[in-house]
Amino acid sequence: SKWVFTFGDGRADGSVEDKDLLGGKGAYLAEMSRIGLPVPPGFTISSEVCAVYYELGRKLPDELKPMVDAALDAVGQIAGARFGDVDDPLLVSVRSGSRASMPGMMDTVLNLGLNDQTVEGLARRTADRRFAYDTYRRFIQMYADVVLGIDHGLFEEILENYKNLKGFELDPELAADDWAEIVTRYKAVVERELERPFPQDLHEQLWGAIAAVFGSWQNARAIAYRRLHDIPDDWGTAVTIQTMVFGNRGNNSATGVVFTRNPSTGANELYGEFLLNAQGEDVVAGLRTPQPLTEADSGASGNGKQSFEALLPEAFAELKRSCAALEKRFRDIQDIEFTVQEGKLFMLQTRAGKRSTQAALKIAVDMADEGLISREEAVLSLNANQLDQLLHPTLDPKAEMTVLAKGLPASPGAASGELVFAADEAVHLKAQGHTVILARVETSPEDVQGMHAAVGILTTRGGMTEPRRRRRPRMGRPCVVGAAAVHIDPEREILEAAGMQLRKGDIVTIDGSTGKIMKGRVTMREPDLSPDFTTLMGWADGFRRLRIRANADTPDDARQARAFGAEGIGLCRTEHMFFEESRILAMREMILAENSEGRRKALAKLLSSQRQDFIELFEIMAGLPVTIRLLDPPLHEFLPHGEDTIAAVADAMGVSLTHLKRRIAVLSEFNPMLGQRGARLLVSYPEIVEMQARAIFEAAIETGKALHDRVTPEIMVPLVSVKAELDIVKERIAATARAVEKERETSVAFQVGTMVELPRACLMAGEIGRSAEFFSFGTNDLTQTTFGLSRDDAGRFLSEYADKGIIPHDPFVTLDEAVGELMQIAVERGRATHPDLKIGLCGEHGGDPDTVNFCEKIALTYVSCSPYRVPVARLAAAQATL
Ligand code: PEP
Ligand code: MG
Repeated sequence: SKWVFTFGDGRADGSVEDKDLLGGKGAYLAEMSRIGLPVPPGFTISSEVCAVYYELGRKLPDELKPMVDAALDAVGQIAGARFGDVDDPLLVSVRSGSRASMPGMMDTVLNLGLNDQTVEGLARRTADRRFAYDTYRRFIQMYADVVLGIDHGLFEEILENYKNLKGFELDPELAADDWAEIVTRYKAVVERELERPFPQDLHEQLWGAIAAVFGSWQNARAIAYRRLHDIPDDWGTAVTIQTMVFGNRGNNSATGVVFTRNPSTGANELYGEFLLNAQGEDVVAGLRTPQPLTEADSGASGNGKQSFEALLPEAFAELKRSCAALEKRFRDIQDIEFTVQEGKLFMLQTRAGKRSTQAALKIAVDMADEGLISREEAVLSLNANQLDQLLHPTLDPKAEMTVLAKGLPASPGAASGELVFAADEAVHLKAQGHTVILARVETSPEDVQGMHAAVGILTTRGGMTEPRRRRRPRMGRPCVVGAAAVHIDPEREILEAAGMQLRKGDIVTIDGSTGKIMKGRVTMREPDLSPDFTTLMGWADGFRRLRIRANADTPDDARQARAFGAEGIGLCRTEHMFFEESRILAMREMILAENSEGRRKALAKLLSSQRQDFIELFEIMAGLPVTIRLLDPPLHEFLPHGEDTIAAVADAMGVSLTHLKRRIAVLSEFNPMLGQRGARLLVSYPEIVEMQARAIFEAAIETGKALHDRVTPEIMVPLVSVKAELDIVKERIAATARAVEKERETSVAFQVGTMVELPRACLMAGEIGRSAEFFSFGTNDLTQTTFGLSRDDAGRFLSEYADKGIIPHDPFVTLDEAVGELMQIAVERGRATHPDLKIGLCGEHGGDPDTVNFCEKIALTYVSCSPYRVPVARLAAAQATL
């Protein structure tokens, strides 16, 4: 098969389509050559050879040799020089290049083709002996390091010593003879270290370099990088061998990098920097400060440095033309390396430019407007997950900060506020207009109100996905968890970290995107949703089929959800409404009541506040669908735990301590998540259904008047596994509806559906579907029960599972395939008996782009996610159709 692909002189064997074989670098070079850009000629050895190299036990196959020799000849003919020619030697670079960009991870050898004879030839042909020996010493050092494995520090030491001895400060002060002397010393080091001379045979050099680059695919750095970026080990690297051009041939030579657009703002202007009379490595070494590329940047920087545009106007004009040609060909922002040798521009590399999310948006919209890409491509060009970053305040990257500790980033965004250590304190202070950060060792259901009141949450225990996995949805607030280096003493209201002590009321800043906890206030950037955001989301909405709803329990959440474009509420978890201080008492009375009558009495106290909750939600959603879920958690979650609290609650409720304790003991369960919750609770305590249904209907009637009867609540029954459970609860709801209709002398419109969050419900979906007006997949519970894996305890070992490759992704974040299959079965069976069944998903997976894509494939009606993920889901839903 074909292993070697040449390029140059307006032609190429390969093209940009051959990235798998030629690697990104080789494929783009081939394409640049094809479209007539000035590319130094060269050839690429395909990644197939990399596989062969390892199969042979790190040996190159013999068949490769004639292919490489032929390619070298061809390249030499284009370049007008010959490899090893003592009068006019061809010098080459040997570079890695894999399918995925792995910047700086693998090896490179530059200036290859020099030995004691050819260096003289180079000196004669360029009439620049200093340049020739400077190049030779650069080569020896790099080759010795990369191919021969000699520590490059030894060489740096020699050069430093030499300069000290001669009183030189900077490299440019060294003359030709100095570099020749350095070369002699460098060769001596190699001979000493290896007990044989530095290789003078140029072919030996070349094969050594090729093998080293293939070998660097398996160096520790590259392996680690692949792990991190999910790049398969068997892709291998290609090796590109390319004619050297020199940016260090005087003041009409230069080397630089350029982005075709500004990668941080997206502005349509060249953005980059360069060094006059330098080789690429000098930029990396950071010894000299690069100069601005354009006149505009030069003026803006005000450092008086002359721009590339001003110094080398012709090369600049050519660069500009090349950039335009590249964007036209690749239809994306490009990140380019170039060199100017004695006035002539050469393009050395191009690849798709990394860009900020904000820039990505602007570039996508601009390019579509410019006609460079279609609107579909613009929508597809964005990474849906990254949109999240645009929606939250972020730390100003230039701000000064004192970092106290780092925890796990659990919910993105940054916030500053006064430190508080108790949830009720947070509620209290918020009511007085304070901005607070709630710091807890860990959070419990009683903290929910406090968490809503705080602008940010910090815990010292817990894992990354814990706040979502627990019965605590993401609340769109920055959240840092598991900050083990922070010590919290809630009694004394003190937080200690990094040897500092902070008290209640002291200002802290947390960054839920990085996990950083900082002392004091840190300057922030407010999210700035540009017109480009609106434009692009508008295009996305035009393409998508899936509806997008939000999980929202409070008016704030509902407003936020609408602002982000939610088309309804897919899940209102009513239990959160009962944790509020004024209500938990009535809730506890209900739980402690001995009989149904006692429970009714207590529930009556909750009715008006519950009704008010729904009125607010219906008003905000203004006729959009609202799915309200009946009470789900086991009752003991509402009871106090801990001796002190139990005593205090007993006191407040006027019941005896023993009575309260007995009730707590009766209600306690071994496996609460698999116990009396959801439908099981509602079957046993129909009074709860009645109260909640009544609150919903009365709220709908009241809001409906203002909204001209546009409110049709969707009432959802959680944790159903048997159709009869749903039927019993449904009948209660219907009876309540009839009662309310009679009292109010009006009709109420409503739907009753069920969550599908147990494997049994998925399999029995045909049956259950006969009774349900809609399904909503609760993928949190469905994942938990499919795996038999408690979402509250999985954090302990899931990371070990990830490390060992047992389960590569947290199934509570990325939908598991078996869970997906159960969903697919449920969709098929449900719609078989109930053809127009409305089906949604409301687990935390709803904000995950891959899950959204899957939901499109299995034809769900909608997905529902936390308000801040709504734009992510809108975009992902559009991408899923394209
Ligand atoms: C679910 O189980 O996916 C769900 C949405 O409900 P909860 O997280 O409240 O159990
Ligand atoms: Mg659930």
